This record gives sequence, C-alpha cells and structure tokens, in this order.
Amino acid sequence: MSATTPTRHQCCHTKHFTGGGCRGCCVPAKLERGGKWYCGTHDPVKKAARDAKRDERWDRETTVRELRWSAESLTLNLVELAAHQELNLTLQKIARGIIARRAEADELERQR
Ligand SMILES: [Zn+2]
Repeated sequence: MSATTPTRHQCCHTKHFTGGGCRGCCVPAKLERGGKWYCGTHDPVKKAARDAKRDERWDRETTVRELRWSAESLTLNLVELAAHQELNLTLQKIARGIIARRAEADELERQR
C-alpha cells in the first residue's frame, strides 16, 4: 500500500475492568499526548478537566451540607436559648414579686 495510509492507534488506557480482569481500552485512539495515544474518554487533559470539575462540585456540595448542619445546630441552640429565656423571665417575675412583698412587709413594719 501507499505511505499515506493512516496508522490506526489503540488507546493506551489499561484500567478497563471486565469480569475476567483488566484489559486495555477498546476505543481507537484520537490523539497523542506525551508519546502515548488516547481516545477522547481517556485523554489525560480532558480527564483532568473532568476531575477538577467533579472535585469542585463535591467541594461545593460538602460546603452546602456543612452550612446546613451548622444552621440546624444554631437553630437548636436558639430554641434551647428561647426556652431558657422564658424560664429566666419567669424567675425574674418571681424575684420581683419576692422583692415587692419584702418591701411591702418592711413598709408595714416601719408604720408600726
Ligand atoms: Zn480509551
């Protein structure tokens, strides 16, 4: 044949698991990177971009989850504080009643 016949390369990716073990990617290679041939799926540059995008999404989801947990925890603290505050108001009312009755008793005692 002629020298212009294109050479078909196979993707060099080997982590393709099957029932019987590990074998290479079956897809014909599209591009060469650093002397190795890759298909579109296993192109290390595209894969790095996909991984970075996935990591960014995971980080964002983790942050959202942490913010929701934090907000939940703060809400529980607020509910607890509100209950405590209600108790404080009741105790303040009782204390004021005691002080008023003592003052009244003192006043009556002084009038004698
Ligand atoms: Zn491949």
